[in-house]
Amino acid sequence: MEFLIKENSWIAKIAARKIHSDNVAIVIGKTIHLYHVSKNDFLKNEKWVKHEMCHVNQFKKYGFFSFIFKYLWESMKVGYYENKFEAEARSAENE
Ligand SMILES: [Zn+2]
Repeated sequence: MEFLIKENSWIAKIAARKIHSDNVAIVIGKTIHLYHVSKNDFLKNEKWVKHEMCHVNQFKKYGFFSFIFKYLWESMKVGYYENKFEAEARSAENE
């Protein structure tokens, strides 16, 4: 699957601050934005890569703006953990 990786991303930095986490990966479209983790370390973590690749797929499946809207709507309704797109990405980790 086609994807890009951006290290030291300001988008991921903002997300890291918001969720009080040190190492963050966040997918926007086809790009995986990283903060406080190098591309090499990220790629070594197979489960993490599978998780984020699932989000790349979701962007592709639902369309860019449509997915962002659905994702935020889910998060508002049920929170981050119960968000069905996160549940799907978590199950992709073990595939
Ligand atoms: Zn996720």
